[in-house]
Amino acid sequence: MLQNLCQKMFRRSLWVYHANSGGCNGCDIEVLNVLTPYYDVERFGIKLVASPRHADVMLCQGPAMRSTAQALRRAYEAMPSPKLVFAVGSCAGGGGLWYDTYSVLGPVETVIPVHYYIPGCPPRPEAILYGVALALGLVDKQVAATRIGHAAFPVPRYHPEDLRPEGGLAIYQRQEKI
Ligand code: SF4
Repeated sequence: MLQNLCQKMFRRSLWVYHANSGGCNGCDIEVLNVLTPYYDVERFGIKLVASPRHADVMLCQGPAMRSTAQALRRAYEAMPSPKLVFAVGSCAGGGGLWYDTYSVLGPVETVIPVHYYIPGCPPRPEAILYGVALALGLVDKQVAATRIGHAAFPVPRYHPEDLRPEGGLAIYQRQEKI
């Protein structure tokens, strides 16, 4: 349904605003890579713009940080409707490695609504292109959804409070296909 809406709303060119709310720049480099002549995303009508006021889509990188949350929210509100948000990378999609650190609020969706997630740390330029093309209905979906579940991890990470009584550590890992 979201894909149909996307195709209806953005039938022609897609103007993109690139927002980094606290990532390590790994995802930024890959997003900029997509815009280079090598990948040439402009052939799909996708164009980078300097202001959120001109953008249809916001590409977010990095987790939502205490220090940048307000600016991110303001940039989102400055975009004209209809608008879409893509969370690019593990940090934007789930907080990444930093999800429980003192300066991080969590994934980008804790501050602004997110419509599409492109996973990876960082996602390859092909994955970013594929995610955007999929949203626009230019390609068919070719990956199966996976369910994430808890599993015991035997190596202590960084704090005794993260350990279970028996000494195991709870982390997330891929379990099964749905
Ligand atoms: S997902 Fe990985 S590459 Fe992207 S901002 Fe986070 S740590 Fe950096």
